[in-house]
Amino acid sequence: MVITDLSIIARTASSKEEENLRFQELLRKEDSDAIDKLVFELNESISPQIDCTCCGNCCRSLMINVDCDDTERLAKHLHLSKKGFEEKYIEKSTEGTLAIMSAIPCHFLHNNKCAVYNARPHECREFPGLHKPDFKRRLFATFMHYDRCPIIYNVIEALKEELKIAMVSEGE
Ligand code: SF4
Ligand code: SF4
Repeated sequence: MVITDLSIIARTASSKEEENLRFQELLRKEDSDAIDKLVFELNESISPQIDCTCCGNCCRSLMINVDCDDTERLAKHLHLSKKGFEEKYIEKSTEGTLAIMSAIPCHFLHNNKCAVYNARPHECREFPGLHKPDFKRRLFATFMHYDRCPIIYNVIEALKEELKIAMVSEGE
């Protein structure tokens, strides 16, 4: 059974920090293609059981990077000029190389739903990224969100079971 309660996930994640570090070490030794296959399968079975519109935790807690295509698409969607969109919703690094949505939670999260869903940034479409190959190369980024994303949390826990790795949580 999947766990979707964010407070339970956050609490459990904190008790599993050591376990997860050990698990990442073990994953690094596994065959990359085999791990990708397992993660794809688990993601395909677990993701449909989790309703992102009842969660919205990534939209409430992450900084979203946007590129030029994202900005143009969102501006068009909102009937704004690109400049007008950027002034209202985007913060840029001083060199202008990095652009992020300027608010956390995201400006466009309304009642846990994305108000610009069809035009949402590429990064939002890809999150949490468990459908992408080379899972082992993204361990740090994935585990960084283990405590906030029910999809990641449940896929990782199922992956531990699949690999039949007996791991004892710190303090147990
Ligand atoms: S644009 Fe939509 S999907 Fe992306 S963070 Fe904002 S509310 Fe969430
Ligand atoms: S991607 Fe993860 S954190 Fe974001 S809404 Fe879906 S379950 Fe929640």
